[in-house]
Amino acid sequence: MRTGARDALDVLIIGAGMVGGAAALGLARAGLKVALVEQHPVSAPTPAEAVDARVVAVAPHSQRLLDTLGVWAEIAAVRASPYSHMQVQDALGAGTLDFDAADYGWPCLGHIVENRLIAGTLWHALEREPGIRLLLGDTLDHFEMNETSVRVSLASGGELRARLLIGADGVNSRVRDQLLIGTSGAPYGQSGLVAQIQAEQPSPQLAWQRFLPSGPLAFLPLNDGSYSMVWTLPAARAQELIEVSAEQFEAQLLRASNSRFGRLRLLTDRQAFPLRVQIAQRFVEQRAILMGDAAHVVHPLAGQGVNLGFADVSALTAAVAQAQSRGRAPLGATDLARWARQRRSEATLAARAFDGLNRLYGISEGPMVAARGIGLRLVDRLTPIKRKLAEQAAGIRAGLAYGNSRITSPS
Ligand SMILES: Cc1cc2nc3c(=O)[nH]c(=O)nc-3n(C[C@H](O)[C@H](O)[C@H](O)COP(=O)(O)OP(=O)(O)OC[C@H]3O[C@@H](n4cnc5c(N)ncnc54)[C@H](O)[C@@H]3O)c2cc1C
Repeated sequence: MRTGARDALDVLIIGAGMVGGAAALGLARAGLKVALVEQHPVSAPTPAEAVDARVVAVAPHSQRLLDTLGVWAEIAAVRASPYSHMQVQDALGAGTLDFDAADYGWPCLGHIVENRLIAGTLWHALEREPGIRLLLGDTLDHFEMNETSVRVSLASGGELRARLLIGADGVNSRVRDQLLIGTSGAPYGQSGLVAQIQAEQPSPQLAWQRFLPSGPLAFLPLNDGSYSMVWTLPAARAQELIEVSAEQFEAQLLRASNSRFGRLRLLTDRQAFPLRVQIAQRFVEQRAILMGDAAHVVHPLAGQGVNLGFADVSALTAAVAQAQSRGRAPLGATDLARWARQRRSEATLAARAFDGLNRLYGISEGPMVAARGIGLRLVDRLTPIKRKLAEQAAGIRAGLAYGNSRITSPS
């Protein structure tokens, strides 16, 4: 396939993960000519299929984006597990922090949803969207760019021209590499060990996280009463815990959870994902931008990784709508520069905050342990600060109406 300037696209997106899929749908709905390139098959699980080990905690602002895109009802019809209560514990400092959706007039604090369900549902919606070009099983070969457009060569031999190239191709982004954009950050030397667990004494709709010196252990509640577990551990220890028998693993998990949910039974395979913090030095370069994990990777302890990526999408579609409402061509250089500045600043702040928390709770002795326990208990009693934290996680910048409450943007 060869496409001349006459058929130029507005936007060409590489990567149909959750972020690339949402961006493609949002930009197509804004009336732009969009193409999306994905190397691997994409499909959503059916309700009859077992729950996938990879899940995310979808914050209210992300739910609203998916709802605006018309896919939330479809996702929820398969399964989305709401959590209305969240408890954070310090295993050594003895502090606890509790959040309750009812305190803010919200129906819940968020939903646990499988990555594959979100990406697959977006893909099925894209298949039904007129005028969008989906290039499955293809990948980026190379591209050339000037101040007005990008010419992209695909591995299949196809060539496409677009006004904007979006790299939504994940942590090892090839778009980012070809733009010669470096990154700051480093691997944590930790892995996120994930599996589905059945607990003897489940607490419905409670998302629970216990900070251990080796890393946080999170239990994310699923509708069927089971939990999706994310256990951050030194990489070698995570590997050991994959190799031990199910009984040995359950015993170790019981100890790490301090028997909070009674006896625990492993329902699925265990999988480990290497963790890192990584921020691209620039999110924009001439007629190309980076979003999602291609631009920023944060520690999963706050469950914000893809939520930051969805906020990238919301901010971009808002910039397009604003330009259109003022009669300007969307995605101009000034708009892209403003978008990149705002998104990089938010991602950097989040990455630093989660990095700091990971380090703080990694300390296992000395006065800091007692001090952070006192700090956690204090924050728990300071209602306005607690509310600010909850609003931040829910998406304070999104100008969000949720339940009986309206979260307004400070900007
Ligand atoms: C253990 C763990 C727990 C997490 N928990 C949470 C959570 O609770 N909440 C949360 O918000 N986040 C969480 N995250 C982070 C979240 O999973 C990521 O931020 C999210 O998956 C990133 O989505 P993405 O679409 O940017 O990238 P990806 O999911 O990596 O998608 C990239 C897509 O691009 C495609 N691609 C790559 N290269 C090419 C190419 N050259 N050509 C064509 N296609 C290409 C890939 O096949 C893929 O489909 C967690 C992460 C981990 C590791």
